Amino acid sequence: MNDYEFDSALMLSGRYFDKIVILLDEVARPIHYPAPPELHQSLTQMVKGIFGDTGDLLLFSEPGINYTIVDLVEKRLIDIRIGLNRYDFQPPAGPERIFLVGLPSAESDQALIHCIIAHEFGHKVWDESDVLIRLQLSASVKPFMYLDKEEEQVAAVEVATEWLLELASDLFGLYIFGPAYVCAAIHYATAVTALDEASKSHPPTRVRLHLLFGLMDEMYTKSMNEQGGREFAYGPNMSQLFDMWRPAVDASRLGIAQMSSNVDERYARTAFAAIRNPDRVKELRSMARGLAQERYGAYYKQENYVRDMGLVRSIRNFIPPVQFLNEGKSELTSVPGILNACWEYYLGGLEQFGSVLPATISSDRFALSAIFNEFVLKTLELSGLAGQWREANGS
Ligand SMILES: [Zn+2]
Repeated sequence: MNDYEFDSALMLSGRYFDKIVILLDEVARPIHYPAPPELHQSLTQMVKGIFGDTGDLLLFSEPGINYTIVDLVEKRLIDIRIGLNRYDFQPPAGPERIFLVGLPSAESDQALIHCIIAHEFGHKVWDESDVLIRLQLSASVKPFMYLDKEEEQVAAVEVATEWLLELASDLFGLYIFGPAYVCAAIHYATAVTALDEASKSHPPTRVRLHLLFGLMDEMYTKSMNEQGGREFAYGPNMSQLFDMWRPAVDASRLGIAQMSSNVDERYARTAFAAIRNPDRVKELRSMARGLAQERYGAYYKQENYVRDMGLVRSIRNFIPPVQFLNEGKSELTSVPGILNACWEYYLGGLEQFGSVLPATISSDRFALSAIFNEFVLKTLELSGLAGQWREANGS
């Protein structure tokens, strides 16, 4: 190493050492709270599906009730890379973007609930300026223009924008995961939020579920019966759950009953009026579908769901539903397919699951639920491995 090279190396370490240490700290910290490793495979596939090969994922669980995504270092990684390039130092190729995904530790072993994470990734895909235009969010349009002062109009637009991005991310999750996403939303969101509470960042959960049901029921309508009612494609157990919830999320029940202290009631009411506008709802759906299609390649259609319901029989026989037969040829199940089949089975109660296990295994609900969860995790892992295997074999 000559003087010049020695000098540049010193400069390099001086300039980038602190950045690299911060980076390592952020990456290493989550490892104190590991998440089930089996999930890694399928969630990584999802990240790569949505963000291309430039994305990677680190999974951890943390105390608290929220799913969090720390969109780590896209900028920071690029900064370091550009900085190193300047000194003719070629850093190893690596992801341009790493998501640190935090699962709530109390739920970290509940594999069926983790499709909620699609919502969080949804937040990362919207281009906000595009959203403002497409959803007509500006102070000069209805209902914002009815507020007296311009600053109030602007504040209400801000609340409505946050809310609509929440709703768009919900619909994105539904387009990717189908009814399994709504099952997870019911189980997770209703346990941790008040149904009619509005905050600056989130519309009431009831409104969110109303929108999810509206789109889901439309997507999964099989036919209309003679009385003009809908016949749905849902499996019997999901059907029962949705029938129970439909009256609770009916349009007539929507409103804002409680206000979180961080939002002014007038702004919340204006935002509520804005998100109830049918044109915006239509645009919201088309935005979410477009993105699911563009980023994920496809959305989860009724025909996929109907086909995947056939997997419930495998689960009943304790066979991980990793593949199915299509005209005599075996095909791999998708992650949404696994989750929908597993939800359908799970909602039927786990007694039947207990009956296929050896008699030495305790049959109390918690033991069965833990074993079923391991079964789901293993299935997700196997499906990830099988996918990689096929890819490597070029088929
Ligand atoms: Zn959100």
